[in-house]
Amino acid sequence: MNDFKGVVVAVTGANRGIGKAIAQLFVQRGASVAVMARSLDAATRTATEFDGDARPFVLDVTDQESVTAGFKAVLEAWGKVDVLVNNAGITRDNLAMRMKPDMWQEVLDANLTGTFACIKAVLRPMMKARSGSVINLSSVVASTGNPGQPNYCAAKAGLEGLTRSLALEYAERGMRFNCVAPGFIATDMTEELDERQRESLMKMIPLARLGTSGDIAEAVAFLASPGASYITGQVIHVNGGMYMG
Ligand code: NDP
Repeated sequence: MNDFKGVVVAVTGANRGIGKAIAQLFVQRGASVAVMARSLDAATRTATEFDGDARPFVLDVTDQESVTAGFKAVLEAWGKVDVLVNNAGITRDNLAMRMKPDMWQEVLDANLTGTFACIKAVLRPMMKARSGSVINLSSVVASTGNPGQPNYCAAKAGLEGLTRSLALEYAERGMRFNCVAPGFIATDMTEELDERQRESLMKMIPLARLGTSGDIAEAVAFLASPGASYITGQVIHVNGGMYMG
């Protein structure tokens, strides 16, 4: 399928996990993809694995200078960004009682403030183009809450509110803002779960398996496609049925 030919897609945190799968799917479908990662080595390694128009860029979403320079380089390379996928994210889990201020701040900075900085970097060119699609990676726990993740749940819930606000602000410019909220997906982020946690998790998932990065990439690609041109301000849940809204 070449349905994204001529479309420029920027993916943050694209060197592994869900971000890599998203970047790969867009490349397979003919898009020009900015593989954005914290180190040039990681971005280059990933971009060269793909068979298509993928180029590496350095981006740390928590560093404003890096955000400005990273998106400037993408815009210089292709002259536009049609689709921005804000995938970069971290967890620093602990119960609220034990959560240190830096654990709270780091998670808010990477997941929420960092996403806002990346969106700001493409707002003007998308406004000028009178089109654009931004997809933010939220999480099922933004809706359900999760003990031990008050910082992460707050950041992801904030992301969903931000998404709805921007959908309203820029709809008249032809721009769309949506979230994909994964359930539990097999990546490095969930690798830390022990066997007992995994078993109890399975009981909560009607489809009885962890999701794959590919499951999430498909939903992201759909939201970026012309078929989703009437969808904005939404959260698409991809979680095997563990939360149904
Ligand atoms: P991983 O931990 O596997 O990968 C995270 C990616 O984000 C890495 O590429 C990492 O870069 C990058 N990253 C972290 N901090 C920054 C930063 N400051 N600047 C730029 N890049 C950064 O996560 P997943 O692939 O599992 O998750 C991807 C997204 O999906 C996240 O937003 C996550 O919150 C969300 N999600 C994941 C779920 C899951 O079950 N896996 C469930 C729900 C949501 P580096 O390699 O340099 O560390």
